[in-house]
Amino acid sequence: MTIKPFMLAGVCATAIGCAPAPSSSSAPTPADAKAFLDKANETTLKLGMQQAQAGWVQQTFITDDTEALSARANQAANDAGAKFAKESTKYDAVQVSADERRQLKLLKTSLVLATPSDSKESDELSKIMARLESTYGKGKWCTDASKPETCKNIDEVSRILSASRDEKALRAAWEGWHTISPPMRKDYQRFVELSNKGAKELGFADTGAMWRSKYDMAPDEFTKELDRLWDQVRPLYLKLHAYVRMKLHDKYGDVVPANGPIPAHLLGNLWAQDWSNIYPLVAPPKADPGFSLTDILKKRKMPALDMVRTGERFYTSLGFAPLPKTFFERSLFVRPKDRDVVCHASAWDIDYAEDIRIKMCIEPTAEDFTTIHHELGHNFYQRAYKDLPVLFRDSANDGFHEAIGDTIALSVTPEYLVKIGLLDKAPDTSRDIGLLMNKALEKIGFLPFGLLIDQWRWKVFAGEITPAQYNKAWWDLKLKYQGVVPPSARSEEFFDPGAKYHVPDNTPYTRYFLAAILQFQFHRALAKTAGCTLPLNRCSTYESKAAGERLNKMLSMGQSRPWPEALEALTGSKQMDATAILDYFAPLSKWLDEQLAGKPVGW
Ligand SMILES: [Zn+2]
Repeated sequence: MTIKPFMLAGVCATAIGCAPAPSSSSAPTPADAKAFLDKANETTLKLGMQQAQAGWVQQTFITDDTEALSARANQAANDAGAKFAKESTKYDAVQVSADERRQLKLLKTSLVLATPSDSKESDELSKIMARLESTYGKGKWCTDASKPETCKNIDEVSRILSASRDEKALRAAWEGWHTISPPMRKDYQRFVELSNKGAKELGFADTGAMWRSKYDMAPDEFTKELDRLWDQVRPLYLKLHAYVRMKLHDKYGDVVPANGPIPAHLLGNLWAQDWSNIYPLVAPPKADPGFSLTDILKKRKMPALDMVRTGERFYTSLGFAPLPKTFFERSLFVRPKDRDVVCHASAWDIDYAEDIRIKMCIEPTAEDFTTIHHELGHNFYQRAYKDLPVLFRDSANDGFHEAIGDTIALSVTPEYLVKIGLLDKAPDTSRDIGLLMNKALEKIGFLPFGLLIDQWRWKVFAGEITPAQYNKAWWDLKLKYQGVVPPSARSEEFFDPGAKYHVPDNTPYTRYFLAAILQFQFHRALAKTAGCTLPLNRCSTYESKAAGERLNKMLSMGQSRPWPEALEALTGSKQMDATAILDYFAPLSKWLDEQLAGKPVGW
């Protein structure tokens, strides 16, 4: 529904006599549009700050009360967002400046979920969303439903998937976790109907089209763009898939075919989206890098604060200003002894300006060391766009924010560790195959998964996949993109998409695919600017002011311009390009070719 100004169509509604129509009933003017945007910017800042403050307290001090406070602040911000999205359509035909037009468009495309204007339907949708989320959140695998002590939560099930090498135990855990989602099926179907209705009221064909409209191009064009990127990296994925399959066949025998798709429960992860847990099964021989950053950090007993200061130094070495004093006063670096906190690492931008923070329970490990560099990437991005109108204070598109953190994390190379005094000498590049394999299991293994979740949802929202085919279509896509199959037959009595958090939670997923592609493109461009002549996987942009300048040029644009322009500011190209991934993994790709000579590739 396009909301139109209220019209008194030929009827005199007052008892005394007909006064001139109030200004709200006439066509909106450019001045109205400006006033509306001022209000939207101001309210977004005010409610966003309240939301961030309440969220921060809730996550660093979990109690029933802080949860209620945070939920209230979220609700207020979401309600305002929905209101502004609907109201922005009023100005579709008003002559405004390009900047104002973009802000109006961002308001309109900012929603992930559009609730229908009918209040009964909107209530129903809210209840369904809450129920879907809590069904997932409470999801447990119980081997004996009458005995709660036999129930395992997601962490426990994930531990089995990552560590067990017993095919039967893995299959049981995989099947067990997928028992949580059949109850979601009916709710999901109704959610699709109602959310589509809301999207249509905003002028979108359906919810999936609304999601795709965020990307500064026609929804169909964007779909094609993703296909093009996937085609670029698919050959490398096929090789990794074939090599891993060969190794799993050696380990598990005929459960894994020598020439066909891989059973989904054997890749070290419930969704087969990150394969790094099975590294020991596929580790290339003689590929040990010869050092362990975790051991070095532990031996030095490096305090969390020192690790953060090291991360900060990476950014100041690029020319960025040091983090504000409040960052160190207000961030959370270590797990408090006296209370429950959400330890999952995150970066915060409390006041949309200088009050930036990270929240992490830092341990002296290589993983946390890299994560610090990643989280700070968010903070430096946030600070770089702080002077723009509030509605522009976000990343160029939703893939960019995650990509920036990961880009910097790619610069945590052995050479960088030598430069900052954590390592005496970088191992020679012949040892790189191990590091690259490990990274490929995480990053290349993820790509088709990152793509297929929304391929499924977009088709569901568009009605191309009907409820009667939810599960079949899911597994068709899993087979097509990932080359994996379920460990046992899956009929429509199951609802396997619901066993992945982002489906019941309704979080768009394409951003993770984009981030996975973009980070390598950013890294290659910055490495080139820094004058690096090493293999791309050995390049670090540490201490390169030229790279920092390039990076800052893009970061400071926020989302004020269409993302291809932001991309161009950093890389010189308006087009996303997955070939940087091929460059980065070139040594591994060559090595895989040797291992796979005469062996089957594909499924
Ligand atoms: Zn992140």
